Amino acid sequence: MKRRKFIKNTALSGAGLAVGSTLASCVDNESKKIKSTTATSIKASLPLVIATWHVEEATAKAMAVLQAGGNALDAVEQGCRVEEANEKGQSVGKGGLPDRDGNVTLDACIMDKHGNCGSVVYLQNITHAVSVARKVMEDTPHVMLAGEGAKQFALSNGFKEENLLTEASKEAWEKWKVEAKYKPIINIENHDTIGMLAIDKNGDISGACTTSGLAYKMGGRVGDSPIIGSGLFVDNEIGACVATGLGEEVVKTVGSFLVVELMRQGKSPQEACEEAIGRIVNKPNSNYKDFQVGYIAVNKRGETGHYSIHQYFSMTKFQDGVNEQIQSDFYNKN
Ligand code: ASP
Repeated sequence: MKRRKFIKNTALSGAGLAVGSTLASCVDNESKKIKSTTATSIKASLPLVIATWHVEEATAKAMAVLQAGGNALDAVEQGCRVEEANEKGQSVGKGGLPDRDGNVTLDACIMDKHGNCGSVVYLQNITHAVSVARKVMEDTPHVMLAGEGAKQFALSNGFKEENLLTEASKEAWEKWKVEAKYKPIINIENHDTIGMLAIDKNGDISGACTTSGLAYKMGGRVGDSPIIGSGLFVDNEIGACVATGLGEEVVKTVGSFLVVELMRQGKSPQEACEEAIGRIVNKPNSNYKDFQVGYIAVNKRGETGHYSIHQYFSMTKFQDGVNEQIQSDFYNKN
């Protein structure tokens, strides 16, 4: 059964905006192969924000930024920061579950409408990894900073050093240590990256993604979330995608880039997400029954899609004043 939660916020009601002219330029460009015939009749209600999982406070924050005239990049950064600061969320930022050795290590990335991107991997003791990733993008000649270097860069930019291992997460880790069995668990808190995509009133797209990664991972393990093209990809002419779930499987199929390329070839965001999940589950000897992967995507028209391997993945969408959690369709119906 579909579980839907609606939060109406009339003060933030979105304005309808025709994006025909932007689309027309996409359609005119043969090389993009966008199969759109009726650009002038297509309307998307902008701005719009989507995010992985059940994160209405985060999407509300992002929408507030957009409604106040902020751009999509500001919106996704600010939205992700809400979850990073939420100590109750045990898979992102402060309060994230640690690796096997008790260290909370964060991965994050961000990408703007120009295709610029920044990323941090294995970042410790800094809550707002997504903002450090933005600094990497904007203030360095690099895309990715890791570990101690990323931390020193953050500190030199005024980020505060903090203990990210909360009592609750420490307790969970201590319980885990009793058996110390490592098996990715489907659909619960250890797959809960926040990935967010936004289109601002100008029709420009940005995306961001932040996570503490898999709970009780090996020390040094990095997932898909900070890898541009795997955890996140934005092409402002086509659309964007962000992933959650078992990062290793997303990396092996370069999932987010794949979804955007499928949209470039004319697939809807929904079709593209479904095909990207198909690439994982249809591999010979795929053990997809043992892990979860989910994608959310948006195209330049403001159409959205979301799909996962197993049940209970969801997308939060804020558009036209409605901030709602929508359960995703999924592959494994057996
Ligand atoms: N994709 C993340 C990773 O593999 C985990 C998650 O989505 O929670 O690190």
